[in-house]
Amino acid sequence: MLPAAAAATAGASSQGASESLAADQTPQLRAYAPAPFPVPAVLPGLPGGKNAPAVLDRTPSYVPQTSCDPREKPGITAFKRLVMSTYPAGRDWGSVRNCTDDGISEHLEGRAWDWNVNVKNPTQFAQAAQLLTWLTNDNGYNARRLGIMYIGYNAKIWGAYRVAEGWRPLNNSNAHTDHVHFSFTWNGATARTSFWTGTAAAEDYGPCRPYAGQPAPIWTHPNPTPCANPPALPASLKKAKRLWRGSTGTNVIRVQKKLKVKSEAGFFGAATAKAVSKYQKRKHLPRTGVVDAATWYALKMNRKPKK
Ligand SMILES: [Zn+2]
Repeated sequence: MLPAAAAATAGASSQGASESLAADQTPQLRAYAPAPFPVPAVLPGLPGGKNAPAVLDRTPSYVPQTSCDPREKPGITAFKRLVMSTYPAGRDWGSVRNCTDDGISEHLEGRAWDWNVNVKNPTQFAQAAQLLTWLTNDNGYNARRLGIMYIGYNAKIWGAYRVAEGWRPLNNSNAHTDHVHFSFTWNGATARTSFWTGTAAAEDYGPCRPYAGQPAPIWTHPNPTPCANPPALPASLKKAKRLWRGSTGTNVIRVQKKLKVKSEAGFFGAATAKAVSKYQKRKHLPRTGVVDAATWYALKMNRKPKK
């Protein structure tokens, strides 16, 4: 039984950036709100999942993006294939985005997916309602089994970590009426939840930032401990510029010369990120794949280039 739907009004200010759903961190108690779609008559769900374990995947914490690693993670690839074959009316709008895009977004670490199902298209809207109801019903039973952290659609947001509140108003400049946004936990992104494996994994808190405001290393293994508040960036590193996936210009060219990256002239793409990561390994720096503050100084980017 659900509590009566209350008039839920938008509270927190908008985050501005189109897909930065980070406003959702603010704990606010609201009455259980109804879904932003009509309740469907049938719920086909997603086929192919392993049997649920006796102890289900735990309710996840909100673990926002910390690293810059726009490579689609295997759990997202597997989920989207299942969705596209089960609900063929929608389209794949992709998982990854360059780190130069604004805001905190799991798209920057390949841990999110945009599913193009427009509320104005009756078939797409009906299929979205079917999948999202199947995922979120029963305190998010199937969302937990798949490691879905939150969902944004049709001006509302549903978070597995705030499941008691149901669908809350989405404080975002993009109302998400033409697509569903899915963000995954690290277990979901790496396909280590019970839907895929038959067992519930311990929570993975993801990579931690070495300094406040600096990107975390690229995910390589689960982290069972919540990240502590990172220390402030040392004063000696404060004048660094940041170069990462999507950056362009002469500083990118300088880095590419230093690291002998032959492709992507002037554009910081996958090859440059890989070379930076290799360099960081050699220098025992956090392997962020980003020319972060520590790497900027290690590469002597603070010195004027010789003519
Ligand atoms: Zn999105």
